[in-house]
Amino acid sequence: METWSDIWNDILANKEIQREYRTAFLLNIFQKMCSRMNKDSVYNKHIMTLYSESFDKTSTIVLIVEKDYSFHLDAEDARLFCLWFEAHRRKDISRKVPPKSLKEELIRKQNGFCSSCGQHLGKDYSKIHVDHIIPWVLVGDELKDNYQVLCDTCNECKSSRTDFMFKNLIKLT
Ligand SMILES: [Zn+2]
Repeated sequence: METWSDIWNDILANKEIQREYRTAFLLNIFQKMCSRMNKDSVYNKHIMTLYSESFDKTSTIVLIVEKDYSFHLDAEDARLFCLWFEAHRRKDISRKVPPKSLKEELIRKQNGFCSSCGQHLGKDYSKIHVDHIIPWVLVGDELKDNYQVLCDTCNECKSSRTDFMFKNLIKLT
């Protein structure tokens, strides 16, 4: 008979789960990098110059992360990190209100339920919030499929809590 320990070991050995958690972990490194670039203009210029002058952008990103964050990106990590980095580089400075059509599309896609707590979202559109799964401050509106709708309560308690990001990233990958 399978014991609880067996189930736990199965979870730990599950390649998909490992990848999901690794993605969430990577996002933490990416967040550190973005906030350092935002605060330190010399560092920002240094990274942007390295990146824009490079012929092999992926290898450059791998080198930067290895040198500044002592973490080695594998091929899949590097692919994701480059995608996020490009989005960060292109993102608008000012935040736009998401169009009503996007809200409607997401409500349809989620069958009218909040993607975090699973409660029905109801009919009052002012209490339904379009949320950036990977925060807007990091990637702007540059990534497709980076949106979900949340109820009032979940939207308020989200802020940028990492556990929330963990939970939601699982839906993205
Ligand atoms: Zn909710």
